[in-house]
Amino acid sequence: MTTVARRGVCLVISAPSGAGKSTIANALRAGDSSLVHSVSVTTRAPRPGEKEGVHYHFRTMEQFRDMAAAGELLEWAEVFGRGYGTPRAPVEAALAAGRDMVFDIDWQGHRLLRDALPDDVVSLFVLPPSMKELDRRLRSRASDAESEIDKRMGAALAEISHWSEFDHVIINAELDRAVREAQAILVAARLKTKRQHGLAALMTEYEAHKPL
Ligand code: 5GP
Repeated sequence: MTTVARRGVCLVISAPSGAGKSTIANALRAGDSSLVHSVSVTTRAPRPGEKEGVHYHFRTMEQFRDMAAAGELLEWAEVFGRGYGTPRAPVEAALAAGRDMVFDIDWQGHRLLRDALPDDVVSLFVLPPSMKELDRRLRSRASDAESEIDKRMGAALAEISHWSEFDHVIINAELDRAVREAQAILVAARLKTKRQHGLAALMTEYEAHKPL
């Protein structure tokens, strides 16, 4: 198989909480071990089962602000009064090495990341099939208190209002199909002509074999 050297893709996946964004991102990674997950920094407390350095880097607000001030975050935002941000160094290293990254960030993060890396970001917005289904999914999350669910429902509508800023939109009515659609978006992004920096060498080879 001939593979051509290229710069990595930054696949940004945003959605209202409860649309199935993390499940889709996990399925993408499970099907492609070369995909790197961007581990965000957050000032919120870990939920049951969440591990430091795997799901998030859990930091205090003071540490978070220090990182932002030192330019260590590629983008950062306050969501629900808590800090969330993308560490810069792992992204730059992965892209330079031609590795693709998946970002589970919100619409603010998408805007900032797209501004920071205009040639690298491909974005995908995941919609729940209906408000009724979104409500059901949010309520089935046992770790969230009722007041937290209400807050997230309000935030969901605000997040959804940004759907048209994204390159692609998927309706997650059926998980397998949504995952296949997300995979197709990633494959198409990888194959973009302008991303295939290594093609020049292959073209030189073709040129050399051209009949006179
Ligand atoms: P949660 O607390 O449920 O893990 O995430 C809350 C929201 O913060 C989600 O919409 C998630 O996508 C967003 N988020 C997570 N990490 C980042 C980040 O690094 N930057 C930004 N802008 N948003 C993030």
